[in-house]
Amino acid sequence: MKWNWRAFKESLRRGISMRRRNRLDPDLLKQMARGIMTARPDEIGCDECFEQVDDFVDRVLGGKNAAAAMPLVQDHLNRCHDCREEYEALLAALRAAT
Ligand SMILES: [Zn+2]
Repeated sequence: MKWNWRAFKESLRRGISMRRRNRLDPDLLKQMARGIMTARPDEIGCDECFEQVDDFVDRVLGGKNAAAAMPLVQDHLNRCHDCREEYEALLAALRAAT
């Protein structure tokens, strides 16, 4: 799972407003850590991206608008360097093979 800055910042903001008068406690830190690891429902993680990237590449190679058909995969590829590299390697390999 990737570092989720947006979730981190949201949980941080929540934590600050809840605990403004107190020091950070371990429970709050645990809660914040869970927030980091929980992706928003409109985002997919690397596992889901990996499962769908074959289909995505097929659409690209078929001259279809893959980004419009699979916007969550496109979104993840924009944000995730690792998956982007994997996608580009897969695309290059399949282009070379056809
Ligand atoms: Zn990824």
